[in-house]
Amino acid sequence: MDCIFCKITSGVIPTNFVAESEHAVAFRDISPRQPVHLLVVPKKHYSDVAELTDNDENLLLEVLKLARQVAAENTDGSFRLTFNTGASAGQTVFHVHAHVTAKAARA
Ligand code: 5GP
Ligand code: ZN
Repeated sequence: MDCIFCKITSGVIPTNFVAESEHAVAFRDISPRQPVHLLVVPKKHYSDVAELTDNDENLLLEVLKLARQVAAENTDGSFRLTFNTGASAGQTVFHVHAHVTAKAARA
């Protein structure tokens, strides 16, 4: 297993999850580019959101719902939800993940 996010979601690399659902987890980005920068990651490996959408709509919905939850819990309600898809779009980890970013943390 040489996928960093498979190691994080499975617990091989210990990580503090800010939230978890049955099939997905959320944790802080190691290199935050906004005051709030969380990653929402399904436990099952799909390389990007296109592959996830094509193969597992239920899991896609679960990822979106967990993103919505952590945004509600960690931001003032204004946030960006981003799936970088493909190297030329800036994707560097090829295990699908949603970025939840915001300028303002929840008061
Ligand atoms: P991408 O560029 O693929 O859309 O986003 C990958 C993100 O994962 C980057 O923002 C990067 O900082 C983050 N990242 C990479 N390795 C790790 C890690 O080991 N732990 C955490 N928490 N974040 C990571
Ligand atoms: Zn993986």
